[in-house]
Amino acid sequence: MQIITTKAALEAVIEECKKEKQSIGLVPTMGALHEGHASLVRRAVAENDICVVSVFVNPTQFNNKEDLAKYPRNIERDAELLSRIGAHYVFAPTPEEMYSAQEMNTTFEFDFAGLDKVMEGKMRPGHFNGVVQVVSRLFYLTRPEKAYFGEKDFQQLAIIHHMVERSSMAGTFGKLEIIGCPIVREESGLAMSSRNERLSEQEKQTALAISKTLFDSLKWAKEAGATVADVQQRVIDTINAVPGLEVEYYEIVDQTTLLPTDTFEHAIGCVTVYCGPVRLIDNIKY
Ligand code: AMP
Repeated sequence: MQIITTKAALEAVIEECKKEKQSIGLVPTMGALHEGHASLVRRAVAENDICVVSVFVNPTQFNNKEDLAKYPRNIERDAELLSRIGAHYVFAPTPEEMYSAQEMNTTFEFDFAGLDKVMEGKMRPGHFNGVVQVVSRLFYLTRPEKAYFGEKDFQQLAIIHHMVERSSMAGTFGKLEIIGCPIVREESGLAMSSRNERLSEQEKQTALAISKTLFDSLKWAKEAGATVADVQQRVIDTINAVPGLEVEYYEIVDQTTLLPTDTFEHAIGCVTVYCGPVRLIDNIKY
């Protein structure tokens, strides 16, 4: 496995792969890797000749400076894991390598067709502009046939789908397929996240109420006469009743439009909860 830190070196490696007609699978990450990331990488390794993993804490998608500063980083451990599971290249640039000063300080404009106006987009203004900025740059540099994203960040996955559909008309990324991968959880049910590293053992126990409530809500949705609004409120109340947890939003929306829905068909519930100072997200399909 080779670690690459410059765009030029990455482009040179990709050019060689293209000459050899090797298929490329890309897994974009922000590092502090865990089994959730590993599930994406294993799939990319199995389905492509070459697997490229990017490890880059993208400053332009953080609307909170403290969150960016505290984001866990451990490239040595990440590289060790990635080498063990068969990744071929790790792209780990600095922010200065990735962006010019101007790119770093101006908003990347993109037409989200409203997908950025709800949930994470509403709570974190500019977040998805930064995501689209970094992911489109990674696509240009890596020219993958397939790119892998987790359903844990369901809204992000919907937005990437939208971005690729829009640009496929212009042929921008060639024939790129976006592959959504299921959420990987701890045995306890807690959705794996790099941010879990910031939780104490006590907070990890407390955070279990999030996934437990989401699972319970599948049963509540089947109760006679249960409406989407009832279930939504019951999830919020149940999590908020746990000392140490505070729901930022819980919305049951259509899986494609991300707009509120009044039926459980094709619906997904997306939650963001503060566990102490740590912001955790999770979701469940009905
Ligand atoms: P991140 O490093 O948090 O930006 O995540 C990189 C990729 O891994 C994203 O596509 C995430 O959705 C995905 N991912 C993160 N956690 C999980 C998880 N628990 N299960 C599945 N995919 C995940």
